[in-house]
Amino acid sequence: MPDSSQPQRLLDLLQHTWGYSAFRGEQQAVIEALVAGRDCLVLMPTGGGKSLCYQLPALARPGCAIVVSPLIALMQDQVEALQQLGVRAAFLNSSLSAEAAREVTRHLRKGELDLLYVAPERLLSQTFLEQLDEVRIALFAIDEAHCVSQWGHDFRPEYRQLDVLHRRWPEVPRIALTATADLPTRTEIIERLNLESAEVFLSSFDRPNICYRAEVKRTGLNQLFDFLAGHRDEAGIVYCLSRREVDRTADELCARGIRALPYHAGMDSQLRAEHQRRFLREEGLVMVATIAFGMGIDKPDVRFVAHMNLPKSIEGYYQETGRAGRDGEPAEAWLCYSLADVVNLSRMIDESEASEARKWAERRRLDALLGLVETTQCRRQLLLASFGESYPQPCGNCDNCLEPPETWDATREAQQALSCVYRSGQRFGSAHLIDILRGGNTAKIRDFGHDRLSTYGIGAQHDANTWRSVFRQLLAAGLLQSTGDGIAGLRLTQASRQVLRGEQSVYLRRDRLRSRGKQPATER
Ligand code: ADP
Ligand code: ZN
Repeated sequence: MPDSSQPQRLLDLLQHTWGYSAFRGEQQAVIEALVAGRDCLVLMPTGGGKSLCYQLPALARPGCAIVVSPLIALMQDQVEALQQLGVRAAFLNSSLSAEAAREVTRHLRKGELDLLYVAPERLLSQTFLEQLDEVRIALFAIDEAHCVSQWGHDFRPEYRQLDVLHRRWPEVPRIALTATADLPTRTEIIERLNLESAEVFLSSFDRPNICYRAEVKRTGLNQLFDFLAGHRDEAGIVYCLSRREVDRTADELCARGIRALPYHAGMDSQLRAEHQRRFLREEGLVMVATIAFGMGIDKPDVRFVAHMNLPKSIEGYYQETGRAGRDGEPAEAWLCYSLADVVNLSRMIDESEASEARKWAERRRLDALLGLVETTQCRRQLLLASFGESYPQPCGNCDNCLEPPETWDATREAQQALSCVYRSGQRFGSAHLIDILRGGNTAKIRDFGHDRLSTYGIGAQHDANTWRSVFRQLLAAGLLQSTGDGIAGLRLTQASRQVLRGEQSVYLRRDRLRSRGKQPATER
């Protein structure tokens, strides 16, 4: 006898329509709340199974569910997958002909749809809103809800107008979903979409099978080859900052017998689509790409994600590395960065058209990321902490846990570096400062008379790499900051005074020279 209780009914739908045996994580709780008519905010990592949280309630509640999604390219895939399951789903966006769109609207008005995916601008059009007035709406799902956040990388102005849904149809439950976990974004979603009374479902963002590693860039490419040597014939993604670097890196990899394909927005769109298709279908391909690649890519067996530059934020880093190991098998996230990356990113922020408030927020994001790559502690703990999640023990699956970094007492070097910044006027970048410290004989030093400074040549016992490491870590520790005028200059902070006065010691990590197989402690 079929059990008519609600949980059983939902489970039956899951098993009969989707063919899954059980709900995952928070799915059941979310689905029950939504079916009961309550608003929900779902924060779940990519691959966590967010779609089911609104797709199943769409069938369990009378009427048609309206799903707002900014990703036109993905709508079609989702709709096709649902149709295969026998669900009456359709989409409305600018890719449809007027004829096809009218057909979809006709089905909607006749009550012949369970789910309708719409692009936000389409949903917000007066005509469509009026059409919806005639229709029984099961629920509103707002996918990629972080698009409402002005601070995020995917800001969509139309998302801000989605509060109209609540005002116009207060009785229809809404579910907002995102894989973006940071606290400011979460708060902004709640405010902007009037979700103050929504139930919040927060899943853990931990990806235990991903091993996180970061190292300082020396030769870049050779370090990448060393890393890839541990991933022969495995599928993975290598992220580069610019199109030119993508092309160059892909060429170099191919020249060394690694099957690599480039992917960036400057390529012919057909070739790009071809590369994406090959990456998804063939085994063991390496995709070398700008961050334009990856949104919505569902390939379970990506074994590694490598970053050749510093990403812009922890959030971006988490999203990009999250494309590895969707199948739960061990995967690696490897990052290689330099002081130049920090300088470049700071400059991009300084020179952008954004408001001062936004620039400030961007700088804090960059600082947080720098803290993550320079930390000597467990990276997973720090990563999750930035999402407001606490992880009780060091994870045992990041480079810092596996090969604890060596630290050294750099108090004297920190004082020398800081006083060099001070004496040269708090406006020069690290390259020139290092020249001063090491007693270089450059035109710039002579022009500015910097060979007469008391800090000239006092750091000659260290090579330039060591000094770069010192400057990078002082920046990461907040003992130095960018002058913020677009020329990569450095200046002191409040905290640097204590070091200069000898009231605080500074311990820095020794840079890893090679990530794999070697104990950094024995490298020097
Ligand atoms: P997200 O949108 O959170 O990135 P998806 O909704 O695309 O995640 O789901 C990720 C994968 O997990 C999909 O392949 C989906 O079919 C699968 N999945 C979701 N829920 C379940 C479940 N309860 N049992 C088995 N597989 C599931
Ligand atoms: Zn760890």
